[in-house]
Amino acid sequence: MLWLERKYLSRIVSLVEQGKWKNDNTLNHRCPYCGDSQKNQFKARGFHFTIGQNFVYKCHNCGHSTSSVNFLKDHFPVIHKEYLKEWLTESGKKPKKPQKMLSANEFKFTPNKELLNMKKVDLSAVAFKVTDKVDAQEFVKRRRIPKERIDELWFTPQAQSLGLLSPKYKDRVLGNDPRVVLPFLNENGELVGITGRAINDSPLRYLTMRFLDDVPLIYNIGNVDKTKTVYVTEGPIDSLFLPNSIAVGGSDFKKLDDSLKENAVIIYDNEPRNAQIIKQIEEVIDLGYKVCIWNERRVSEYKDINDMVIGGLSQNEIIEIINSNTYSGLSAKAKLQEYKKI
Ligand SMILES: [Zn+2]
Repeated sequence: MLWLERKYLSRIVSLVEQGKWKNDNTLNHRCPYCGDSQKNQFKARGFHFTIGQNFVYKCHNCGHSTSSVNFLKDHFPVIHKEYLKEWLTESGKKPKKPQKMLSANEFKFTPNKELLNMKKVDLSAVAFKVTDKVDAQEFVKRRRIPKERIDELWFTPQAQSLGLLSPKYKDRVLGNDPRVVLPFLNENGELVGITGRAINDSPLRYLTMRFLDDVPLIYNIGNVDKTKTVYVTEGPIDSLFLPNSIAVGGSDFKKLDDSLKENAVIIYDNEPRNAQIIKQIEEVIDLGYKVCIWNERRVSEYKDINDMVIGGLSQNEIIEIINSNTYSGLSAKAKLQEYKKI
């Protein structure tokens, strides 16, 4: 919804440095991802412009590009939340045409009441296996998710069904988008949370639910051998491409248990110009973790592991790149300085 995105971008014009509309469809300001020119405080190389029915953001200094909605999320979380609320109301008003890929049959979803009544939270009560639904299969094919990992993924054509998993989320699930669902199981194999990745163009890309408080959500934690190298990524989908791997579902690696410190390799997304991420990498280095620093031309155009796979790199190549770019302590700090200038 172009008009709605424009409305919310208008709210940040006075909040960003050097913000001004160049025309109805172009907003320009200094880039908060890289800080823009350090020498010239008037240089403003961040641009929001339209592609189809959406605004996108691109910085001509650091190259960072993302949707403008994501930009709001990164820098103005409160305004972003308000945007989402209004987006949901607006998209609910219009009669939604069923998407082409979904058959009418797939829109009707009846939760399995018996399974829901069991004490244990069970995804099969409210979702399908990815392999049972064509549009979910299309998604995993497009993202090139390895065949051997597809079995652990679920799919719901209507995210509202997930609200039935826990009284905590009754009537509290945002939107009703079709989502591929990745379950977080604890070390005893119990479902403690989920994250649902929208397979349409919903601005709510990820929907995360947590069923047990005080249990950190770490994807695949029950299946790794902590005596060997454990690869740790931000996104659960990225972790599917690596052996013996887990994901923290965000960029907070500090929630990892100390028992992982010796063998974990922390792998951030590839964002050399993102000052916040660089700071976080420094922090985990200081905590004593090994980190992968993507100092490699071959991957410079890709922002995460899934992008690298879609771009044509094999899983083995990626593992090799990670292994040869893993550092700790002072050498990690030195490599991080090089990385910032890549
Ligand atoms: Zn920038």
